[in-house]
Amino acid sequence: MKQTIPVPAAIAELDHQDSFAGKRSEFRLPADTIYLNGNSLGPLTFAAQERLVEACKQEWRQDLIGGWNKHGWLDLPIQVGEKIARLIGAKTGQTVACDSTSLNLFKVLSAALSLQSGRTTVLTQEENFPTDLYIAQGMRDLLGEHHCKLKNVQAQELSDSIDESIAVLMLTQVDFRSGYKHDIEILTKKAHEVGALVVWDLAHSAGAFPLDLDKWQVDFAVGCGYKYLNGGPGAPAFLYAAERHHKLLRQPLYGWMGHAQPFLFERNYVAASGVQKFSVGTPNVLSLAALQGALSVFDNVDLHALREKSNRLAATFMRLMSDVESLQCMNLISPIDAAQRGSQLSYTHPYAYAVTRVLIEQGVVVDYRAPDCIRFGLTPLYTRYMDIWRAVEALKEVIESRRFERAQYQADYQNAGSKLRITVT
Ligand SMILES: *Cc1c(COP(=O)(O)O)cnc(C)c1O
Repeated sequence: MKQTIPVPAAIAELDHQDSFAGKRSEFRLPADTIYLNGNSLGPLTFAAQERLVEACKQEWRQDLIGGWNKHGWLDLPIQVGEKIARLIGAKTGQTVACDSTSLNLFKVLSAALSLQSGRTTVLTQEENFPTDLYIAQGMRDLLGEHHCKLKNVQAQELSDSIDESIAVLMLTQVDFRSGYKHDIEILTKKAHEVGALVVWDLAHSAGAFPLDLDKWQVDFAVGCGYKYLNGGPGAPAFLYAAERHHKLLRQPLYGWMGHAQPFLFERNYVAASGVQKFSVGTPNVLSLAALQGALSVFDNVDLHALREKSNRLAATFMRLMSDVESLQCMNLISPIDAAQRGSQLSYTHPYAYAVTRVLIEQGVVVDYRAPDCIRFGLTPLYTRYMDIWRAVEALKEVIESRRFERAQYQADYQNAGSKLRITVT
């Protein structure tokens, strides 16, 4: 994008004082791109690339099948899980990296239901991410209404709906559209007071701000490896199961990697102890290696400081937006109070799709969510204050020039059909 106008001194000073300024060099960001979409797909890091190349060249190529033993490939889900554990406030032995968020949700939702006798209702909210709703619907259709009923309420009814009839409260902490953030501690406590268990989806939380799952007594959680954790497209997800439930819980996907002794090749399933029982099939070694490398970027990161920078980036963005008269057509739908917000800002605009298209053409990568929402993801490890300033400048230019009204963008919108929810590239 055009970078001819000098960055104002106040913005440059914020970058100058940024304790994460050095972190950006650990990322392989393309030149001339302002990337505000790390909430959807984190960028490549040098560490992920190196670990992936090593796994290919030194491990797979040299040692072939010997790699399973020599390089501990079978242990990767637990090893990588332990690296994520620090980021979510979990002590050892409760976190595994495997499969996708959707699959892991199926496993933990079923496990949570298996621990509840006499209660069958799963409470969630209508605004939940579609895959979470679909997984719950699939569970209901598989088990039948007698064993799994869904109660799907609106956000404002949520708190009052947590009562003795609920078996499992299943929520996503940060709303993918608005960025609204639930208080896990309060809702978990409320659920436990009425005897319900909780399943939290941390897709837009892990790696974005501190979490304290053990302290908050969370029962189960799942999350995404390719968003704030930068594990690469389709990276393995993670799964957390509190140790106090390990003995009694059952998860329905009996695979050999979740067997107590997979290499005895026994005829009957005997679940492994601990969180290992959530493993199903052969680990995705290369994807796990990339995620393992990417996670090392967090090794010396203080998540409280990370969160502070995210809040400051957001405050800067909101202030710059409100200073520009022509940008008052953009309507902020994220909470203004940082405590109620994840690490993104979302604005609506009647031509959101076309505006997103033009912004991306200008080198400012954001994304669009139907019907009228533009998301700006804030990822403090590599986002500079000057990126925020340039993004607002670019947006101002797009709006004032009214370029988004051109026929080509409208035509795209008409033709986009089922692809509307996907990031426009
Ligand atoms: C991104 C996201 C997912 C992704 O699920 P996959 O199975 O990894 O595709 C799930 N839930 C939420 C809330 C998400 O934001």
